[in-house]
Amino acid sequence: MSKFWSPFVKDLVPYVPGEQPKMTRLVKLNTNENPYPPSPKALAAIQAELNDLLRLYPDPNSDRLKQAVASYYGIQTNQVFVGNGSDEVLGHAFLGLFQQAEPLLFPDITYSFYPVYCGLYGIRFETLALDEQFQIQVEDFKRPNGGIIFPNPNAPTGRLLPLEAIERLLQFNTESVVVVDEAYIDFGGQTAIALVDRYPNLLVIQTLSKSRSLAGLRVGFAVGNPDLIEALERVKNSFNSYPLDRLAIVGAAAAFEDREHFEQTRQAVIQSRELLTAELQARGFEVLPSAANFIFARHPQQDAAQIAAKLREQGVIVRHFKTARIEQFLRITVGTPEQNQALLDAL
Ligand code: PMP
Repeated sequence: MSKFWSPFVKDLVPYVPGEQPKMTRLVKLNTNENPYPPSPKALAAIQAELNDLLRLYPDPNSDRLKQAVASYYGIQTNQVFVGNGSDEVLGHAFLGLFQQAEPLLFPDITYSFYPVYCGLYGIRFETLALDEQFQIQVEDFKRPNGGIIFPNPNAPTGRLLPLEAIERLLQFNTESVVVVDEAYIDFGGQTAIALVDRYPNLLVIQTLSKSRSLAGLRVGFAVGNPDLIEALERVKNSFNSYPLDRLAIVGAAAAFEDREHFEQTRQAVIQSRELLTAELQARGFEVLPSAANFIFARHPQQDAAQIAAKLREQGVIVRHFKTARIEQFLRITVGTPEQNQALLDAL
């Protein structure tokens, strides 16, 4: 910190991303990437785009990608917003859609970027504890609020809310925006995109980082009523009007168009998750039911920090979670069967 820093930045408490090691020999099960490669069609589209056009700015509206998303979900392009990773889309939603008169509500535990955005934008918030099964209770959100946000499935628990619960919430919460962060929805849940035509205050955010194996390309999107999308476009055009580069637009669109590859890889991850869950249970771990590409587990006798440290010594990285509310959980990204075996051998 120096005298050159603004008072604003002195007070910022930034998000700390998970470790991204330079060594590739590690079994990397710490930041919920997909262990399988992206669609070959996405890679081919990126290759084809590497041409003289890189001199020129990309389409500021990313129309090609919006069309791919809209046609996949059977919606209109003016219901789609795209951004540089869903973290950026979330940031624009925090700035553009949450009201300040009442606090924003989100569960605890949940994605730790939410309080960071609140700090950045000066948004008041209240957290609501999960129940004993680590599940979100939507009825708890029945109180004055400036907005509601939660991931579905929740992170880092992996626990899923059924669509009926989300619809119940939307029925009693009509005066503020409800954001459902569906980063992991393709691994076992039903998307709330089916509800956007009926609930003008619903915004659903997804990413291509997980089920479409494109974390390195940084593409996320939101789906909602055109009025909500317009607010996000206003924020975007006041911040970075070209958030997606040419490679990201064509690569992400092609990934969306390759349904076969998407289905194959997501089924492989789901199968691998079920096997890993059973193997960990057989070794005495308590594993929460997960609808995501990671599992949240604890061992009744072994300290989670120690397990994580010992695994690290053996070249396997998992994430140890420690917050005011929980201490003993590991979050383990589902890998290929070979990676999962390496984890089990190390355990
Ligand atoms: N939401 C949740 C719940 C996440 O876990 C993540 C990944 N850290 C994101 C959003 C952001 O993903 P990305 O920016 O790669 O789209």
